[in-house]
Amino acid sequence: MPRPTTPLPDDPLARLVGQPAGAIDTPALVVDLDAMQRNLARMAEFCRKHGLRLRPHAKMHKSAALARLQVQAGAVGVCVQKTSEAEAMAAGGITDVYISNEVVAPQKLARVAQLAHRLAAEGGQLSIAVDSAPGITRLAEAMNEARRASGGTAVIDVFLEIDVGQGRCGIAPGAAAVPLAHEVRKHPALRFAGLQAYHGRAQHLRTAEQRREAIAHAADGVVATRRALEAQGIAAGLVTGGGTGSMACETASGVWGELQAGSYLFMDNDYALNERDPAQPQFEHALFVKSQVMSVSPEHAVCDAGHKSHAIDSGLPRVHRIGSTPDLVVTGCSDEHATLRAAAAGGPLPALGDIVWLIPGHCDPTVNLHDHIVGVRGGLEAGTVERTLRVDARGALT
Ligand code: PLP
Ligand code: MN
Repeated sequence: MPRPTTPLPDDPLARLVGQPAGAIDTPALVVDLDAMQRNLARMAEFCRKHGLRLRPHAKMHKSAALARLQVQAGAVGVCVQKTSEAEAMAAGGITDVYISNEVVAPQKLARVAQLAHRLAAEGGQLSIAVDSAPGITRLAEAMNEARRASGGTAVIDVFLEIDVGQGRCGIAPGAAAVPLAHEVRKHPALRFAGLQAYHGRAQHLRTAEQRREAIAHAADGVVATRRALEAQGIAAGLVTGGGTGSMACETASGVWGELQAGSYLFMDNDYALNERDPAQPQFEHALFVKSQVMSVSPEHAVCDAGHKSHAIDSGLPRVHRIGSTPDLVVTGCSDEHATLRAAAAGGPLPALGDIVWLIPGHCDPTVNLHDHIVGVRGGLEAGTVERTLRVDARGALT
């Protein structure tokens, strides 16, 4: 006879709310809510000052509660990359969602079209990026089918993606946009809304000058595209793009009307390695992995957070120096372990049982490893657990 199963609690960390931060077991993904709030406020102020719309990328945190905070702080809505992320954000009360990515599979486009109708019925709006004529045709077919099935008349906003230097998705800047914009405008269920122009590779160019050059080049591509469209009597609409690394450059160009930065809310070690552009708000690390030293040797210590707790695609995490934490570097990482060595030869190591806070190399895939984030107020060590945040779109890949 199999044993009866006990259902797992939906949020096993919820019991921590109101407890001292010290009660958080390891490894755990923890957000410093004070630092996060300062990042939120600095970004909101920056966008207000420059007259830019902010549509933060929710692929970073995948949390509807955090998306709602961003909207309360002035964001027009959120970006997502995936249909399933859009569904998670809509289910969590976000009514203005932009899939800043191409979707071509008919089964996904059927969901996109249904979501467009659901959001329209709530007075909201769904938008999506395209970069091909067949992609546009398929989107139109799905929207028409959803119109027939629901009797609704929702319109989806369509942004034409141009490749401004990343070499990922998008058409070449310039005249190639004209036939595609015409194609979008043929379909009553589609509205040509503007240009998607995001330069991913520019985000982590280390010097501010390198990022300025890359975005100046991107801006030339956007302007050439806009001219080509306007020459045919087509208004180019809103230009949307920009990330945490380059946002000051898109802003200074005057070409972009909307920023899509995501990582600014949490920041990660890869962004800390960028030379700061003085025109950029000062964002702080707000996302940490709490870990505990589980083994020590004369040369190194080992903590209990490996790459199942934090993503290492953008490098190993950095040790956050807090309280009496010695100056340590992470020198290796496996599934469940990170190896710590003294930053200077012969320097002090942590003791067995000590807590070590890690700053993940890359925030987006780190968050995707966790079901919940623990929100601490009043400091990582002395503070209190205020809330837990569900990673609603964890693993939402379709
Ligand atoms: N927009 C798009 C299309 C992206 O792919 C990304 C991230 O990769 C962003 C915006 C946000 O970038 P970041 O999290 O670096 O601010
Ligand atoms: Mn990222």
